[in-house]
Amino acid sequence: MSNCFRRFPPTITTIKLFNKSCEKYYLHNTSNFSQHPSVCYTTKQQQRPISHVAGINPFRLAIIGSGPAGFYTAQRVLKSCSFATVDMYEALPAPHGLVRYGVAPDHPEVKNAQNRFDEVARDPRYRFVGNVSIGTNLTINDLKAHHDAIVLSYGATEEKTLGIEFEDGAVLKNIFSAREFVGWYNGMPQYRNLMPDLTRSDTAVVIGHGNVGLDIARILLMDVDVLAKTDITEYALSVLRNSKIRNVVLLGRRGPLQVSFTAKELREMMNLPNVKFVTDSNFVNQEIKTHADLISKDRPLKRLMQIIEKGLINTIAINNQPEKSWTLKFLRTPIEFIPNSKTNPSYVQGLRLNVNRLEGPFEKRIAVPIGDVEELEASLVVKSLGYRSIPLEGVPFDHKRGLIPNVKGKILDEEGNELPGFYVSGWIKSGPSGVIAATMYDAFETAETILSDIDQKKPIIPSSGIGPKQGADAIIPLLKERGVRTVSYDDWKKVEEKENELGRQKGKPREKVVTTEQVLEILGN
Ligand code: FAD
Ligand code: NAP
Repeated sequence: MSNCFRRFPPTITTIKLFNKSCEKYYLHNTSNFSQHPSVCYTTKQQQRPISHVAGINPFRLAIIGSGPAGFYTAQRVLKSCSFATVDMYEALPAPHGLVRYGVAPDHPEVKNAQNRFDEVARDPRYRFVGNVSIGTNLTINDLKAHHDAIVLSYGATEEKTLGIEFEDGAVLKNIFSAREFVGWYNGMPQYRNLMPDLTRSDTAVVIGHGNVGLDIARILLMDVDVLAKTDITEYALSVLRNSKIRNVVLLGRRGPLQVSFTAKELREMMNLPNVKFVTDSNFVNQEIKTHADLISKDRPLKRLMQIIEKGLINTIAINNQPEKSWTLKFLRTPIEFIPNSKTNPSYVQGLRLNVNRLEGPFEKRIAVPIGDVEELEASLVVKSLGYRSIPLEGVPFDHKRGLIPNVKGKILDEEGNELPGFYVSGWIKSGPSGVIAATMYDAFETAETILSDIDQKKPIIPSSGIGPKQGADAIIPLLKERGVRTVSYDDWKKVEEKENELGRQKGKPREKVVTTEQVLEILGN
């Protein structure tokens, strides 16, 4: 193992070595934010010091969550503030959040973001503390006692629901949320044993017209031999190899102009070999015609409609019928799951649907039931309605919007005042939508707020008064006392090496080590 990922703690010596220009600032020993060292650099003008009172201690930042939001916030703060240290706490035994556990296995180029995260982790002022759930193993108060500031970037760990009976899959089998299903094929520890049955019929329904829904439909329909060369988990691959699913219906409550797809992902679906595209072409053409003027002014929407129109033409042109199909079904809202009355009532057999019409202005079209109800058969149902964030004890939460209230990443308390030393970044800051690039810019905004607060000497989390704060140096022994085996970035690189080796044996980029027990076994305890 290279010493690139050498262990912290960054003693004053290591910080000096890392940035000699700051040497003179590490002479005293106080713990007030206003007296922290004063060499932050604005990101627009790198190397131009933002000066204020010369101080002494490292600025100890805790980041909760190791997804793109956490890493991009860390990157910008570490790059621009020479005396900052980052301790990143992650619930799972492996880092990188949805880049590892969300992004589809057949999109390896998207996962290149992980190389960037590795670079951040090479900074001696960075430390990864994995396998630690904030709220379970540690409280916010534990972190407050040992850090000057905290960034909440724990994403969206739940999913939106339909609010109808049996949707949690506990009574009726083969109903899953996208989070569960994606987590299953991508090796999220808690979904290792999900065991979807893809052999009960040839039709699956995915509810929701977003990119995650497209990912799931694509994985269900694509050539398994192609999938076998990706980092999809071997257990998921073997279930997909035996799959009888040939048709996937993507069900949306609204119309074609209201889909949340992006062009690249929709085009990819249209171009899937051996898979025919099906939709209600009359309704689609009518919607496009009726709103032609508005579509022409909205470039992304125009592109999406062109792709759908082209898909319709291609479908008509196909002579030898493909073996598989995917359907975009509009104006339908699930109201009931139907049990399989013939063979096994503990499995789902289909859905009862309200038929809708669209009402309201173009930008705010809503689905209104017209009173007709129809049934749709399916032996597998995946609800892809979007993810949902949950509150963390000790941190304000806006239940209506499902996020932490903030201004440019600075958390606000119930009265709307800034909460000293508390920041938020990523999906938990702006809601569960946006691609990695959008999350990156969002994280940079939060980092700029932190840097600006340092510059303005704004209050931080107060010290308990017993010497300077120690960050993870104090937290790790606490976790040990509580029986938690933490995973460092060095540890993770060892696990990754093992994943790469297992992958090489199977002709894949990696074979993921899935459960926490397996991770700890590789690490020797
Ligand atoms: P996350 O990536 O979810 O990271 C949050 C981290 O916090 C996780 O590691 C989590 O384990 C950790 N955490 C949660 N709770 C705690 C706790 N209590 N204590 C400690 N740690 C905790 N974007 C693209 O650009 N291209 C794609 O192909 C793409 N595919 C996607 C596929 C799916 C299925 C999904 C859902 C999203 C996809 N996205 C894609 C979007 C992209 O993943 C997000 O923009 C991005 O991951 C959001 O980053 P985040 O850091 O806010 O959240
Ligand atoms: P999303 O884009 O918000 O789509 C959610 C879908 O669920 C919408 O069609 C929505 O319809 C529907 N829905 C929500 N509640 C519903 C209900 N109660 N009943 C019926 N339908 C309901 O969410 P997502 O697909 O989870 O994607 C999340 C983010 O990750 C997006 O920004 C996406 O672009 C990104 N992502 C990107 C990629 C990629 O770039 N390749 C891949 C995956 C994900 P309404 O519009 O009617 O509410």
